[in-house]
Amino acid sequence: MTRPPVALTIAGSDPSGGAGIQADLKTFSALGAYGAAVLTALTAQSTQGVTGVHAVPPAFVREQLDTLWDDVAVDAVKIGMLSGADTVRAVTGFLRERAPQSPVVLDPVMVSTAGSRLLDDDAVESVRTMLPHVSLVTPNLAEAAVLLDAAEAVDVEGMRSQARALRDLGVPRVMLKGGHLAGDDATDLWLDGDGEQVLRQPRVATDNTHGTGCSLSSAIAALVPRSATWADAAAAAKTWLTGALRAADDLDVGRGPGPVHH
Ligand code: PLP
Repeated sequence: MTRPPVALTIAGSDPSGGAGIQADLKTFSALGAYGAAVLTALTAQSTQGVTGVHAVPPAFVREQLDTLWDDVAVDAVKIGMLSGADTVRAVTGFLRERAPQSPVVLDPVMVSTAGSRLLDDDAVESVRTMLPHVSLVTPNLAEAAVLLDAAEAVDVEGMRSQARALRDLGVPRVMLKGGHLAGDDATDLWLDGDGEQVLRQPRVATDNTHGTGCSLSSAIAALVPRSATWADAAAAAKTWLTGALRAADDLDVGRGPGPVHH
């Protein structure tokens, strides 16, 4: 592909600029993709936490998607915060009806690092039914456990079996993020139809990790249109994210855990 790919994020706003739509658009730019954005929710948020969530009405999420889709050829989609079950259903309906062949990365965002709910409890079942309509899901250990209604994996062997169980729910590829496991490396497990790979990068010593999940999933969406395989895009996204974490301490944003430096 010679022109920059067009990447679309469907996600929530983080006014502090570290996570959500803002992180996604910065990631797209950093990786040479043109970014488009459909908002699902506003949050009132700083580096110290979320004080409120204002969801966009689901029918208006769908209207944003249809209006954009009628005009713009989108090469890859990233989905982040969906807030409620009706929004999950609205986006799933859009994927099914209008974007069945599009590359779609789903980051199943549930709870912020500081502990605020970004997805209603009763929306988890709808996220499960979205899985067969996306190309890749990128849960962390806690999100995988909720999706599978199981205990969190505590080692790579446990991650392996949870990645397989997620594929059994109908999603063709899984990147299970094990960054919260103890160890010198940040270890993720990749699983697709060709088998599995353990992806390791040295753990970066920083408290400034706000938005890492958002940035990783949008990096994959930015890279996949120009990559030979999904696994190549995921590995390159993880390498890029490690650099963004190494540069995070150059920034001085807010008094809480700061953002990664895109
Ligand atoms: N706010 C929004 C809008 C998000 O989409 C996300 C995560 O995806 C977060 C906050 C949470 O980011 P973190 O867990 O890095 O604080």
